[in-house]
Amino acid sequence: MSRISFNRKRAKLKQLLGIRARLALLALILVAPLMLDRARSLEDTRGRQIALASQEFADLAQHSADTQREVISSVETMLKSAAYIRASGGVGRSCEILRASLPLNLPWILSIMIVSKNGLVQCSTLNKLVGLDLSDREYFKQARETGGFVFSDFLFAKSSERPIVMAAYPVSAINREEDAIVVAGINLDWMSKIMSNLGSRPGVSAVLVDGAGVVLAAPADQASMIGRPLDTLPLLSAVAEKVIGSDQPDGSLSFADGGGSKRIVHFVRIPGTQSRLVVSIDESSVTAAINREIRSAYLQLLFVCLFVLLGALVAAEKLIIRPINMMVAMAKRFGEGDRSVRAARNRLPAEFVPLARAFNAMTARLIERERELVATNARLTVIASIDMLSGLANRRGFQSRLDFEWMKAQQHGSELSLLMIDVDHFKLFNDSYGHPEGDVCLARLGETLAGIAAETMGFAGRYGGEEFCLLVPNTDSKRALEIGEIVRAAVLNLAMPHCTSHYQTVTVSVGVACAKPNDKQQPGDLIEAADAALYAAKHRGRNAVVEHGVVRLTDGAIALAS
Ligand code: GH3
Ligand code: MG
Ligand code: MG
Repeated sequence: MSRISFNRKRAKLKQLLGIRARLALLALILVAPLMLDRARSLEDTRGRQIALASQEFADLAQHSADTQREVISSVETMLKSAAYIRASGGVGRSCEILRASLPLNLPWILSIMIVSKNGLVQCSTLNKLVGLDLSDREYFKQARETGGFVFSDFLFAKSSERPIVMAAYPVSAINREEDAIVVAGINLDWMSKIMSNLGSRPGVSAVLVDGAGVVLAAPADQASMIGRPLDTLPLLSAVAEKVIGSDQPDGSLSFADGGGSKRIVHFVRIPGTQSRLVVSIDESSVTAAINREIRSAYLQLLFVCLFVLLGALVAAEKLIIRPINMMVAMAKRFGEGDRSVRAARNRLPAEFVPLARAFNAMTARLIERERELVATNARLTVIASIDMLSGLANRRGFQSRLDFEWMKAQQHGSELSLLMIDVDHFKLFNDSYGHPEGDVCLARLGETLAGIAAETMGFAGRYGGEEFCLLVPNTDSKRALEIGEIVRAAVLNLAMPHCTSHYQTVTVSVGVACAKPNDKQQPGDLIEAADAALYAAKHRGRNAVVEHGVVRLTDGAIALAS
């Protein structure tokens, strides 16, 4: 049961998946791996591009940190030199030397100050700073306590409202007797330049944040961020906690921003400080170009697929469907009787030529067979309606001729006569001369009747056994009686010996009937009438001709049949 339903389902599916659909599916199956491979390689390229961009920016962030390290180390060297100068001379002399050398040495050092142990700026390369009290500054306190080089976190210079870092070095580290501290303010312009460089890339923003997460430096076009905490900034608020709270000196993380775009953030701690450089990359901006490329590649693939599909369908139509339809139409026309139909091989694809050739050979053979069959049928029809012994039509042949003549006479309103002829005492003839001799006798009677039929435009047949019939169209009863007489006389004149007959020769009795066919009568009625007349002729003593209702005696007299 389940097998039957399975087969049904399969047949339905086959019907559904016509040859066109199957070819289209095949084309898709062939193209699909190529498409998938291309799509995968594009996706790989996208991944690689993002990784490359991330790496590039991570490197840049690292490079910035490295640069800062160099800055710190150069500042340290510079401060040690300044401390040495201070240790070897008075404040005034040292100040002069520092003021003269600073612009030539390190351009990122904003100012160098010599600060007394109670925090007052005694000397500065920037005059306005002289007299400033730095005693509450963390870096100042630290330098005094540790007695070594101190580098502050990034901070806002109260004087310039710009982010700076401060470095301090106690002169006591060189000469124990001196208690002054050498302090330097360091410019962050180089940092802003790096960030501007980073920020000038589409989808990239870079900021410098201090240990508390306040923005110290940002690209020129995003200067408004400076001084604001990271967690209040759009796009970066999501990472504030992770960047600031992280113990790691550097790292990266990714998150989805409100617009559904993915952002990658790299952060790196500036050595010697709690500050971090944060570079944020908008993946969609970075990958915009490759995305465009991928989109156009997908479109290309789509077109290729459509093209392949279209090609497959056109090819299927031209190379398979149309030839099949042509062959089907030809077979149909041939089946409907058009024997002139032939497959035009030049209009078919090469693969169909053998089929067309076979079809043409088959039609030729079928036509030949049909011709033979028609001829054989005709022969058989003739054989089936001929009596082989007498050479006349047999009962079947006679019957169909009677039907035909009856219809004709009915159409023309003409008369039709029938003569039933029976050999007298033929049983006795057989008994006397044997059956073969009886056959010879019947054959001679057949010949005689054929001759009379030809003369009278009639149709003779052997009705059965030793009984013959003669159908004479367009003949009235008078003429029919005359023909009956001709038959009787012709047989008598054959003078075939019949020792047991009263006449000593073979004689026949003839029953004649004539009719003008109409709707009320049947051909069988004419046969019955002729039979009745024949019976009457036998009754009258044989060798007689009797018309239905009238009897013609052997001596030429006419009597009524009973
Ligand atoms: P009646 O004058 O009353 O017609 O007598 P009959 O003997 O001719 O009639 P009946 O019907 O008694 O006998 C017919 C005979 O015809 C019997 C049969 O052997 C013979 N006969 C029928 N067909 C053939 C045939 O093909 N060949 C031969 N040799 N004899 C046949
Ligand atoms: Mg008979
Ligand atoms: Mg007989």
